[in-house]
Amino acid sequence: MGIVLKDIATDVDRLLRDFGVTQHLYRRDSTRNGAREIRSPLTGAVIACVADASPGDVAEAIKRAHDAFIRWRVIPAPRRGELVRLLGEELRAAKAALGRLVTIEAGKIPSEGQGEVQEMIDICDFAVGLSRQLHGLTIASERPDHRMMEQWHPLGPVGVITSFNFPVAVWSWNAALALTCGNPVIWKPSEKTPLTALAVQALFERAAARMDGIPSGLSSVLTGGREIGELLVDDPRLPLISATGSTAMGRAVGPRLAQRFGRAILELGGNNASIVCPSADLELAVRAIAFAAIGTAGQRCTSLRRLFVHRTVHDDCVARLKRVYASARIGNPLDEPDVLVGPLIDGTAFQKMQDALDEARTLGGKVFGGERVREKQYPAAHYVRPALVEMPAQTGPVLRETFAPILYVMPYTEFDEALALHNGVSQGLSSSIFSTDIREVEKYLSVAGSDCGIANANIGPSGAEIGGAFGGEKDTGGGREAGSDAWKAYMRRLTSTINFGRALPLAQGVRFDID
Ligand code: NAD
Repeated sequence: MGIVLKDIATDVDRLLRDFGVTQHLYRRDSTRNGAREIRSPLTGAVIACVADASPGDVAEAIKRAHDAFIRWRVIPAPRRGELVRLLGEELRAAKAALGRLVTIEAGKIPSEGQGEVQEMIDICDFAVGLSRQLHGLTIASERPDHRMMEQWHPLGPVGVITSFNFPVAVWSWNAALALTCGNPVIWKPSEKTPLTALAVQALFERAAARMDGIPSGLSSVLTGGREIGELLVDDPRLPLISATGSTAMGRAVGPRLAQRFGRAILELGGNNASIVCPSADLELAVRAIAFAAIGTAGQRCTSLRRLFVHRTVHDDCVARLKRVYASARIGNPLDEPDVLVGPLIDGTAFQKMQDALDEARTLGGKVFGGERVREKQYPAAHYVRPALVEMPAQTGPVLRETFAPILYVMPYTEFDEALALHNGVSQGLSSSIFSTDIREVEKYLSVAGSDCGIANANIGPSGAEIGGAFGGEKDTGGGREAGSDAWKAYMRRLTSTINFGRALPLAQGVRFDID
C-alpha cells in the first residue's frame, strides 16, 4: 500500500533526516521569511519550505569553491576519482530512498525515480575509469628535435543549473566529470525541486567525510530561482556554466556568458521526432513510441513529440497507439504500483498543454485524450490523459516544445519528405527511425539524415545511456554531457612545444636571424 496523502510531508521529513539534511536548510510546515513552498506534484500539497540563497551566500560559495579549486586541482586525478567512487557507493546505498524522493518531488513513477539514481551511479562508475584516462596527444612537430604535446588541466569551479524534470541525474552528469577533472561544483537546482538537491549534497558530504584531504567548498548547493542562476552566470570566477532547461533560459544565459567569455554547456529544449517506415516492426515501434511519448508524462527533454508515419502503416499504427493511450494507467504512483503516467509538474504546465491542444484543434488537428483526470481525488494536482493529435500538417504548436504528453502524428508518402519535416523545426535534440530497411536506416544516420545530436534506430528518442555524449543541436544549445569525450569541456587544453636540440628553427620556415 502507498502512503496516505497527508503523510507525504512526514515521509519527506523522514527521508531528508535520514540523508542527513539539517533542519536549517528546510522547514517542514511553516513558511519562513522568503522561503518557498515546495509542493509535490503527486498531490499538490506543500511538502517543505526552502529559503532562497542570498547574494551573500552565492559570493561565499564561489569564494569557497575557488579556494577548493587551488587544492583540488593538484590532487592526482585517480585520487579525485576515488571520491567519485565513494559518491557512487553512497548513491547505491541510498538508491531506494533518493528514488522515492525524486518520485515525491518530481512526480516520476518509482522505476523512473530509481532509474534516475541508477544513472547517477553509472556516471560515477564512468568517471572513476575516466580518472585514469585524462590523456592528451603527442603531436609530430614540423621542426627537428622538437616535440609537441597536449595536456588537459583542471578548468576551475563549474556552475551547474538544472531543470525540474531530471532533478538529480543532470547534476551527476556534470559533477562526476567536473570533480574528476579537478573542478569544484556549485549547483543551482530548479526552484521546483530543491529537496532532492539537498539530499544529494548530503550524500556527497558523506562520501567526502570518508576520505582525507577533501577541501571544503568542493560541492555546494544554492537554492533559489533564476536570480541565483544569473549571479552564477555573471561571475567570472566560474569559467564554465552548464545550464539545463528551456530554450528561453538558454537564450538569456548564452549571451550573458558570452559577454564575459565564459564557457557554456547549454542543454535546452527538444522537439523530438520519429519516423515509422513501411518495413517497421510495428509491435516494437508502438511499445517504443508509447514509452517515449507518454513516459514521465511527456516531461523529458527527449520525449517524443512528433511522429511521421508512412501512409501504408499509418492507420494501423495510430489505432494501436490509441489503444495504449486509452488503457495506460494514470495516477499517483506511490499509491498504485501499476501506474505508468504520473502527474504534470504543476497547473502552469497543465494550462500550456490545454492551450497547445486548443491551437491544434483550430488548425484541423483531431485530438484524442488530453483531458484532466483524477481531479476529484487530487484537486490540487494535475493528472492528464496523454494526448495523441492527428495533424494535417506540421504547423502551430507542432513547431514548439510543449512540456507535456502530446504526440502529434502526421502521415507521409516519401522518405525524403518525412526527413525534411523531421528536420524542419528549430530544435535538434533527439530522434529515431523505425525501419528494417538498411538503406533508410543508414541514410537517417548519415550526414544527410537526422540533424539532431542523438539519432536512434528501432528504439525511441528517449532513455539515453550515459556512455554516449548527450546533447543536441540548433535551439537545443549545442552542449554535450556525460560519456564519450564530453569530459574535455570541463578542462583547459594546454598545448606545449619542447625543443630538445641546440638550434632554434622557427615554424613555417620563418627566418629571424639576429647577430
Ligand atoms: P526552466 O528553463 O524553466 O529552468 C531551468 C533552470 O534554469 C532552473 O534552475 C531555473 O531556475 C534556471 N533559470 C531560468 N532562467 C534563468 C536565467 N535567465 N538565468 C539563469 N538561470 C535561469 O526549465 P524547466 O521547466 O525546469 O525544465 C524543462 C525544460 O528543460 C524543457 O525545455 C526541457 O526540454 C529542458 N531540458 C533539457 C535537457 C537537455 O539535456 N537538453 C534536459 C532536461 C530538461
